[in-house]
Amino acid sequence: MEHIRSIEELAHWKSKELEKKTGFVPTMGALHVGHLSLVRLSQSISDRTLVSIYVNPTQFNKAEDLAAYPDTLEADLRALEALGCDAVFLPSAQMLYPDGLKSRRFDFNQLDHSMEGAGRPGHFEGMATVVTRFFELIEPDFAVFGEKDYQQLSIIKQVVTKEGWPVEIVPAGIFREADGLAMSSRNMRLLPDEREDAAQIFAILSTRISRLNLQETSPKAFANQCTEALNAVPSIQVDYVSCCDAATLQQVDEFNTARSTRVFAAVQCGKVRLIDNLPLF
Ligand code: AMP
Repeated sequence: MEHIRSIEELAHWKSKELEKKTGFVPTMGALHVGHLSLVRLSQSISDRTLVSIYVNPTQFNKAEDLAAYPDTLEADLRALEALGCDAVFLPSAQMLYPDGLKSRRFDFNQLDHSMEGAGRPGHFEGMATVVTRFFELIEPDFAVFGEKDYQQLSIIKQVVTKEGWPVEIVPAGIFREADGLAMSSRNMRLLPDEREDAAQIFAILSTRISRLNLQETSPKAFANQCTEALNAVPSIQVDYVSCCDAATLQQVDEFNTARSTRVFAAVQCGKVRLIDNLPLF
C-alpha cells in the first residue's frame, strides 16, 4: 500500500495506471469495521482504491470535539494494508486549504436545513469543502459514503449533481455492532455503562418501527414515542428524533408509503453525540 503525503506523490500515483478506475473512500481515521466495509465496496467496483485519512477542522463546530477526536493512525494503516487497499492519502491542512481553513459556499437545495445542519452550523459546508477539494486532487471515478451519515451522503450527491463533478457517489449500508449500535469512531469514547445504554438507540427504534401502525400513528406521535423511550435510558438525552422524506430530508407530517421515509435520531450519550437512522418504508 502506498502512503501518499504530498500532491506530487498523489499525481505520480494517479499517472501510473491512468486506465484504472479509481475508487475513493474519505475518512477521518480511527477506522472500524464499518469503514472497512466501505473499502471493500470500493474494491468490488473499481480497479484501485485510495482511502484518505484526514480529520477536517472546518466541519467541527466545537473545538473540544475536534480535540477529542481519536487518532489511531498506526492501527488504521495496518487494517488498510491487511485489506489490500492500494493507497492511503495522508494530506496536510496546507495541501487541502492553501488559502487557510475556510469553507466554500454551496447550494445544498435545503438538504442542510434539518437535523445535523440545523444543530451544527457550518458542519456541512466544511465537509463539502474538503470532499470537493479531494475530488479535485484525486479525480476518482467512484466515491463511497456510508448511510450512517445519511444527510452527508444526500448533500454530497446534491453537490456532485449541481456542480457537475465527474464522480459516481456510491452509498454503503450501515454497519452495526452485534447489539445493533451503529459503528462509529466515537463509540470508543463511551464508558462501559454508556456503551451498554447506547445499544438502546437501535433496539428502541427498530422495535418501534416493527410495531408501527401507519393508520393510527402520525410521524410526530411516532417520533415522540421514540424520544420518550430513549430519554428513559439513563445515559441518553435525545437531541432529535425525526421522520423525514428520504429524498428531501424534510420532516413528514403524514406517512405516505409511496415515498421512501426514514427515521433519524441524534442523542447525547454521556459526553458523546451519536447519530443513527433506519428506513421506515
Ligand atoms: P468518518 O471517518 O466518520 O468521517 O466516516 C467515513 C465514512 O465512513 C463516511 O462515509 C461514513 O458515513 C462511513 N461510516 C462511518 N461509520 C459507518 C458505519 N457504521 N457503517 C457504514 N458506514 C460508516
